[in-house]
Amino acid sequence: MTTAGQAPTIVVPDPSLVLLIGVTGSGKSTFAARHFRPTQVLSSDAFRALVADDENDQEATADAFELLHRAVDRRLARHRLTVVDATNVQASARRPLLDAARDHLIPAVAVVFDLPARVTATRNAARAGRTVPAAIHQRQGRALRRSLQELPREGFAAIWLLRSPEAIDRTIVGSAGS
Ligand code: GDP
Ligand code: MG
Repeated sequence: MTTAGQAPTIVVPDPSLVLLIGVTGSGKSTFAARHFRPTQVLSSDAFRALVADDENDQEATADAFELLHRAVDRRLARHRLTVVDATNVQASARRPLLDAARDHLIPAVAVVFDLPARVTATRNAARAGRTVPAAIHQRQGRALRRSLQELPREGFAAIWLLRSPEAIDRTIVGSAGS
């Protein structure tokens, strides 16, 4: 224990489907790489790269998500812990993932990166070659705020809120058999 208090602990059932939810620049991919095995993480950017040789090619989004959803389905059929690293700020983006979890009787868990807009905007602007336009970033922020209202009714087994870079840094991810 530190004097700053107990480290926040996120409990992730194994197996489960973990949705990382946050605007571009909120640290989802960094968090995924720190806490999960590479094969457990299905990233929309990686699937864009798979289909289009370019992880930033927004035009490839539909094809990328078609394959991502297929991979989620096949992993859950095998009861493999699966993390979806995409913004997931739209209810319509979350719904097919929640449906897949329900179909396979696997709990879905939300990890929400609810950081101050100035933090994520600064990180977004600093990203070499991977910046989303400010208007899109702001739209993601509005969708995230709506999501905070919607998430409790969407069927998640647990919703974990991370509200500062410090909280994210100190977070421990523990797994529990389910
Ligand atoms: P994503 O767009 O949500 O996947 O965010 P990334 O994981 O790609 O992180 C966005 C940027 O913020 C990258 O340049 C990271 O190096 C940086 N970053 C991520 N997590 C942290 C953090 O905890 N502290 C700081 N200072 N930077 C971070
Ligand atoms: Mg990312």
